[in-house]
Amino acid sequence: MYKVIIKEGKDRTIRRHHPWVFSGAIDRIEPAYTEAGWAETYSSTGLFIAYGWYDEKSHILLRLISWKKKDNPSDELVRKLTKAAVERRRDLFSLADTTAFRLIHGEADFLPGIAADVYGREIRIIVSSRFGEAFLPVIASELDKMLHPSVIEAVTDKQFAGLEGMSERVRHFRNGEETKEDESRDNVRFIENGIWYEAAPGKGQKSGFYCDQRDNRKAIEMYAKGKNVLDLFSYTGGFTLHALRAGASSVDSVDSSESALRHLLYQVHLNEDKEVLSEGSRDKVNIYPSDAFQWLRDSEDNKYDMMILDPPKLAKTKSSLENAMKAYKDLNRVAMMKIRNGGIIATFSCSGAMTREDFRLMLSWAASDANAEIQILRTLSAGEDHPVRLSFPESEYLKGYIIRVIK
Ligand code: SAH
Repeated sequence: MYKVIIKEGKDRTIRRHHPWVFSGAIDRIEPAYTEAGWAETYSSTGLFIAYGWYDEKSHILLRLISWKKKDNPSDELVRKLTKAAVERRRDLFSLADTTAFRLIHGEADFLPGIAADVYGREIRIIVSSRFGEAFLPVIASELDKMLHPSVIEAVTDKQFAGLEGMSERVRHFRNGEETKEDESRDNVRFIENGIWYEAAPGKGQKSGFYCDQRDNRKAIEMYAKGKNVLDLFSYTGGFTLHALRAGASSVDSVDSSESALRHLLYQVHLNEDKEVLSEGSRDKVNIYPSDAFQWLRDSEDNKYDMMILDPPKLAKTKSSLENAMKAYKDLNRVAMMKIRNGGIIATFSCSGAMTREDFRLMLSWAASDANAEIQILRTLSAGEDHPVRLSFPESEYLKGYIIRVIK
């Protein structure tokens, strides 16, 4: 095992259990680096801090996973962490109306760069670190042992492939062993809050579905009845479907992905068939494959009583935060100007680099430029299957508010 010694004064955050160590904080490694491996981490005065995975090809050289000296960093420890993450979600497995949720939430579950979601009988994993890639077979075999999914599909996170020097791959595991893709595999069906969804194998964004918005989709229902709703950045229609179930008069769904919008319509039909949505729901929905920012600017004034703004991650890193704040502000400002007086906006940011304070500040700039008063009705975040680890503030990535716009 390597010994990594941290520079004097550079160990404050990691002693408080932050899991990332960048090259600038590292004084030296003993013995000399040859290949990725486990490391014990020491302060400049020789005090043990934590165990982690050291890999010079990763953009985060050392990823810490345990601060307990008695732990023995090994495959076995990774198995234990996987098992613990799943066991912490026991309550979610007993939900009758939801069969899709997150099993492993990366650093917040002490497994850096690994996210795993369950969708009905399948598990989908997103790998965003070299650590995740190295331990994928161990994690997949533990998940298989505990949950017996029909298949585990693992994809490399496109956003991190370059940074981490990983090739983009799709891998499959069955019965704990890596296998070839079964070309005849069907789409997987699952329910969330009683609404049916279907995800195609190896396709779609993230792991095919954004289960972090589960509680927030439910939260918008009480405001949607009888309303003209705009679902901006709708993807496959999570919010659209909930608005329809709540009795919205109309829903316009806008996304740049035409295939996501086609799938949205398919899911409306699916829920009509399952009698979750009333007959004729399809006729209330219009889809617009467009750039949402431009589409909103071109839209009619006072047409909507309710808007959902769920853009993709606009601030990828801390350094791009300033520009991203402008883009978020612009989006929210135009929405506040276009919506009817007294209308409701559910607005989100999934940028980890943007704090909740930044988000509120951005909203206040938008409101002031739109000449509107804003009431915050609800504060939203990801569900408890995406926990926020206090020592890793970046895990509070999804922030949202339901606001009323008074002009
Ligand atoms: N609200 C969705 C998730 C949205 S994810 C749900 O509940 O499932 C963000 C979406 O924004 C993606 O579907 C992506 O295709 C879309 N997107 C990204 N850039 C866009 C743009 N400029 N205009 C419109 N859609 C965009």
